[in-house]
Amino acid sequence: MKRCLSCAALFSGDKFVCPDCGHAPEWKEGFPSFAPGAVLEKDGFPVEAFENLFEIEDGSFWFRARNSLISWALDRFFPNCSNFFEVGCGTGYVLSGLARRRPDLTLAGSDLYFHALRLASKRLGNAVDLYQMDAADIPFEAEFDVIGAFDVLEHIEDDEAVLAQLCRTASSGGGVIVTVPQHMRLWGEIDVISGHKRRYSVEALNGKFKKAGLSSIYHTSFVTFLLPAVFLSRLYGECSLDRARRSLILPRPLDAALEALMAVERRLILAGVRLLWGSSLLMVGKKRR
Ligand SMILES: [Zn+2]
Repeated sequence: MKRCLSCAALFSGDKFVCPDCGHAPEWKEGFPSFAPGAVLEKDGFPVEAFENLFEIEDGSFWFRARNSLISWALDRFFPNCSNFFEVGCGTGYVLSGLARRRPDLTLAGSDLYFHALRLASKRLGNAVDLYQMDAADIPFEAEFDVIGAFDVLEHIEDDEAVLAQLCRTASSGGGVIVTVPQHMRLWGEIDVISGHKRRYSVEALNGKFKKAGLSSIYHTSFVTFLLPAVFLSRLYGECSLDRARRSLILPRPLDAALEALMAVERRLILAGVRLLWGSSLLMVGKKRR
C-alpha cells in the first residue's frame, strides 16, 4: 500500500495521488520527491562523496564482498521475496548487484539526496523505481517483502524511528536486512568525518530491532579477518576522507587478495560459523505479526 504523508490514508494503485486529500509528491529532477525540503535541513553527504563512491565501488573488494553477503542473506532468509526496497540506496551499487543476481526481483530504491539518485539512475536505468524521501517518513505501508538499509542507520540521529518505518514498510511475513559499522572500540576520526552518530553492538541493534517490531533472526559480523588492519589504522593512521577512499581502492593484486580473504570469511558464514568480531555487522529481522 501507499501511505499519504499528508493525511496518513492508505491506498493502492500506480499513482501517488491520495484519494482522500488529493496530496501528491512533487516531481523534482525526474524523481517523485516526498521530502524536497529535508535535503536542505540535513547536513550530510557532499556531492563529491557520492561521486567518489560511484567511481570506486566497482573496483573495491569491500563493496563487492558486501554485495555478495547481502545477496546470500536475502536468498537464505527470504526465499520467497518477490520485491525489495533499499532505503538510502546511494549510488545504486547494491541494487545493481541484486538486479544482476536476481532478475526475478522487482526492485525499488530511495535516497534523501538528489545527486545520489541521479547516479543511481545512471547506473540502473529505468529498471528500478527511485524515490527521493526521508527514511523517517516513508510513503509506503506493508508494500515490500524485504527492506534493506546498508550502512545507513549509523548516519541517522533517531535510528529507532527509522527502523520502525522500515518494519512498517515490510509486508506481513517479510522483514529487514541491515548492515552497520560495529564496535564502539573502533570509533575513530573516520567515523566523525563520515558523519556517523555511533557504531553498534549486537545487543544494541537487537534491542532497537525489538522496539521497532522486528524479531532478529540472524546476525553475523563481517570484515573479520581484516579487523586487525582496521584497528591498527585507527590507532596509528592520520585520517582523512581521501585516505579512507584510498583504503577502499587498492592496486588490483591487493584488491583481489583482500576479496579472496573476504570470500573465505563468507564461506565460513555460509557454513554456519557465527563470526563474533568484525568491523561490520549484518542483522536480519522478521516483522512480528
Ligand atoms: Zn491524503
